[in-house]
Amino acid sequence: MAHSDKSSRVKTQDVSESQDSGKHRRGAASILPALDSLSDAILVLDANDRISHYNSALVTLYGDAACHLDLGKSFEELVNALAASRQRYGQLPESAEILREGTRQRIALPMPHDQTGTQSDLTVRRMALHAIAPCDYEELSAHGKWLHVSTRLVPGGGKTIVHSDITHWKARELQLEHTVLHDPSTGLPNRTLFMDRLAQELRRCARDRDRTFGITLIEIDRIRMISEELGHERATAVLAAVARRLEGVVRPSDTVGHLDGGTFGCVIEDLSSHEDATDFAARVEAALSPPIQIDGLDIEVKVGMGIALGNRTVATGGDLVRDAMTALARAKDEPGMRAAIFDDVMRSTAQTRYQMDAQLRQAIRRKELRLAYQPIIDIETFRLVGFEGLVRWGQDGLDAVEPEIFIKVAEDSNLIVPLGRLALDMAAKELSSWLQHDPSLFVTVNVSARQLGEHDLARDLKSAIDTYDLPREALHLEITESTVVEYPEKVAEALADIKRLGVRICIDDFGTGYSSLHLLQAMPYDVLKIDRSFISTLDTSPRSRVIVETITEMAHRMGMRVVAEGIERHDQLAMIRKAGCDYAQGFLFAPGLEAADAENLAAAGRLNIG
Ligand code: C2E
Ligand code: CA
Ligand code: CA
Repeated sequence: MAHSDKSSRVKTQDVSESQDSGKHRRGAASILPALDSLSDAILVLDANDRISHYNSALVTLYGDAACHLDLGKSFEELVNALAASRQRYGQLPESAEILREGTRQRIALPMPHDQTGTQSDLTVRRMALHAIAPCDYEELSAHGKWLHVSTRLVPGGGKTIVHSDITHWKARELQLEHTVLHDPSTGLPNRTLFMDRLAQELRRCARDRDRTFGITLIEIDRIRMISEELGHERATAVLAAVARRLEGVVRPSDTVGHLDGGTFGCVIEDLSSHEDATDFAARVEAALSPPIQIDGLDIEVKVGMGIALGNRTVATGGDLVRDAMTALARAKDEPGMRAAIFDDVMRSTAQTRYQMDAQLRQAIRRKELRLAYQPIIDIETFRLVGFEGLVRWGQDGLDAVEPEIFIKVAEDSNLIVPLGRLALDMAAKELSSWLQHDPSLFVTVNVSARQLGEHDLARDLKSAIDTYDLPREALHLEITESTVVEYPEKVAEALADIKRLGVRICIDDFGTGYSSLHLLQAMPYDVLKIDRSFISTLDTSPRSRVIVETITEMAHRMGMRVVAEGIERHDQLAMIRKAGCDYAQGFLFAPGLEAADAENLAAAGRLNIG
């Protein structure tokens, strides 16, 4: 081999010149075999930055490029030769840690324009690194080894550069990093890494004004139901299959991440127009449309998509994700719509929402909400049996915003939990004073999914019952069927706790949430409320009539009472009576009443309807 002598022993240039000649002289000649015995690769430069020593580990490290190691050669020449041969440098670090007076500081180095860099880029960075001493950094060599490099000043002039092989440690570190930053079920980047990639893309946009990109949030419909019906393992297999298909749609430079549950995110480069976004959404839809086969089952996956386009005017990744979420919510709200692209109209709607969110938060804190009480009537006797509490925003009978609107805002922002707690407290308090007129009176309170899923509602109920000394059956809860379908496991758990308190449970809007009979049987309902949509079509649709009759009969067989809501006319009342419903509620009797009027009604005990 041309440079076989280089690996055999430590090279040194006129050692005696650079060594102290006093009695503390440590013996240059004797230290050389010791340097050779080290596994760390060492390069020593003199005060003029010329190679004065190196050991055999450095020769091994340089491999073929060791032919450039010549004593007396300047460091810059060496760096140039190495960069030209592309032998030594794989990836140079973006930053180095400098040691100065015992403190450590991280500094950025000049960046090459692409990942590998041109020869001159590499030389510039290497020389920039070299100019900082003492310093420590890590680099990936062209041979795939991870090196820890430390440069130290030699007293009296010169430097030592020590390269330690840390490949083993780095592998563990990378493995750990991978575990922390990836989702185990799909192997995709998790939310943290996704947000990091997004931030990286925004930094690139800040440097390059023409650069554009987009993000897409993709949410699988009813992933909880898949998990509930087919088991957790199969649901995980579905997620993994969706992950692979999404990876097939994007380019290698794009990122697909698994954000949580059934939600995936893509960062897509060069997405600049509405058309690009629509094309991308169509590609995703096409990729996901063939059923996924798991254990011989064909599982159909439907998704909703929200797309937001990014460029250098976007402030943060979080803003862009929020915009994409707004678009996603839009896509989910609109029947038949699979993908929505965030636009100016959505931006202004979203801004109104954020404002409303802030105002609602304040209103809840200041207790500026109240309940309207809609009477529930015994269909045979017209006797008042209870009220449904319907939340209103504003005081003195003035309604600031429609409940349908602010309830949705509250649900999206989690304000529904404090709102629900306030509603429960008001209902319990007002009911406690009406019970003197009729001890069997009840008030039903509407609760939403989040209150059941993320919050200990049973505890709030117990505290309301205790505080106002209510009989347990005086408070009822109403939950909508669609809620139950969305979170069956959590709802079942929460309802079991609530049921143990003696509180009655009513399933609301029945017939609209596609709940299975199995679910209806599995949940501890006492009351079933038939949705208004069936009542309003009773006179025109024979189908509605059959549905109302069938639901009523089925509910009775399961031991439930039946309420028909939305009764506006006498013919509807006659029909639900014929169908066998127990209770009725609707504008025919009364709308939601202010608390004082509700109390008067409680004192009278019955309604006079014409
Ligand atoms: P919901 O639980 O289905 O409540 C019945 C809605 O129908 C009420 O609207 C009520 O005013 C209206 N309504 C009653 N009778 C009739 C009728 O004969 N005809 C017609 N066309 N409508 C009738 P409201 O008060 O606007 O409430 C809307 C929804 O807001 C409620 O629907 C419920 O889902 C939700 N909500 C109300 N209060 C609360 C609450 O305290 N917590 C939660 N989570 N949701 C609430
Ligand atoms: Ca209700
Ligand atoms: Ca309802």
